[in-house]
Amino acid sequence: MCAIVGVFGNSEASKIAYYALFAMQHRGQEATGISSSNGEKITTVKKRGLVTDVFDKKALTKLKGNMAVGHNRYSTAGKESIWDTQPVYASYQLGKISIVHNGNLVNKNEVRASLIEQGAIFQSSMDTENIIHLIAKSQKKDLKNRIIEALDKIKGVYCLCIQSKTKMFAIRDRYGIRPFSLGRLKSGGYIVSSETCAFDLVEAEFIRDIKPGEMIIFKQGCHEYESIQIFEPDPHICAFEYIYLARPDSNIEGKNVYLARKEMGRALAREKKVDADLVIPVPDSGVSAALGYAQESGIPFDMGIVRNHYIGRTFIEPTQEKRDIKVKLKLSPINSLLKNKKIVVIDDSIVRGTTAKRIIKILKEAGASEVHMRIASPAIKHPCRYGIDTPSYKELISANYSTEEIKEQIKADSLDFLSIDALKTSLGNDTNYSLASFDGNYFIK
Ligand code: 5GP
Ligand code: MG
Repeated sequence: MCAIVGVFGNSEASKIAYYALFAMQHRGQEATGISSSNGEKITTVKKRGLVTDVFDKKALTKLKGNMAVGHNRYSTAGKESIWDTQPVYASYQLGKISIVHNGNLVNKNEVRASLIEQGAIFQSSMDTENIIHLIAKSQKKDLKNRIIEALDKIKGVYCLCIQSKTKMFAIRDRYGIRPFSLGRLKSGGYIVSSETCAFDLVEAEFIRDIKPGEMIIFKQGCHEYESIQIFEPDPHICAFEYIYLARPDSNIEGKNVYLARKEMGRALAREKKVDADLVIPVPDSGVSAALGYAQESGIPFDMGIVRNHYIGRTFIEPTQEKRDIKVKLKLSPINSLLKNKKIVVIDDSIVRGTTAKRIIKILKEAGASEVHMRIASPAIKHPCRYGIDTPSYKELISANYSTEEIKEQIKADSLDFLSIDALKTSLGNDTNYSLASFDGNYFIK
């Protein structure tokens, strides 16, 4: 997960980066940071916590200059040190840089082992530090070529924003797995951001998505940006961005996420029909797909479960016991609506099965006569190696049990998932998608 942003050529750069990170809080809640440059000095503020907690007026006043990069970090169990926050700032032979990274390098351990053998020392467990070391070690005489040489040695998923005192580089890996878009600020200058939902908040006009394998360069004193295709593109957009990760008002590769989710719901209704009185979403992530399911099937839609908003995302809790309690606190049924009804309940995905179990239980306790569960994505049978924090094979319920067995465990009257083919059709067959969680095709060799 994670979110990154870069703002260039605007005297309010750090404030714009702050708003953009606020709009992308859903991509990471553990820590956040911004680095700005005023042409002479790079200043960084980063801390554990939410965007609104970390940045106050004082912090933003400190972050001077007309360029800034920012990052929201997604929580993964265990790695809680301040060293694991971004932007990562470093001094090297040619000056100072600050870097933000969204993604996951697949050859991280090999690269790190070889750097350590050559005398490098590391302060964090982040793969981003590998990139910094490779840039620092390169013998090329400018930053652009050092970055290109460094990226040649790493494999995997990255959207990067690298800032020196006077330049900014935005780079997307050749697979384009994570989204990354370019916009023009109405108040002047440019913005690059993980999701387009940030553009609306800061009044930026969408220009285009950054291309897989592309590097965009902004330079002080130049109004236009430069674009270089540094790697042969091999697009594989992450299907899970459309299913769950991205915000519904974002557009990825020209497709609106909300409409894509609704289409998945429609496809699910065609493929996995069930006779019921009501379609109920698991809020909030199942709402768009449930609307699509209801519209396609003709079964009335209703909000049968309310969500308590004063609780964070449940998935993040590191232990199963904590996750169970949090799901309980988060979701409550509307008994008068559900009593004696045949329900079809829609969620976007099943990972460990925690949410599904709880939902079926509360719907039955509320008096529903039948509860059928339909999932608007295929069964997740493989862990993601490309930047989503899905658990190991051991914890993934669909990696260990059949649909029939899961149905028994969660005590549903029936259970079904969207097929991989229907998912692809819903997204449009005009490009390739990364479907590794569903089909186990880890295509980055
Ligand atoms: P489960 O409860 O089966 O472990 O997880 C499924 C629920 O978690 C779904 O409601 C889905 O919306 C949500 N979910 C799926 N993938 C992710 C993820 O990568 N991060 C977070 N925070 N939630 C997820
Ligand atoms: Mg959910």
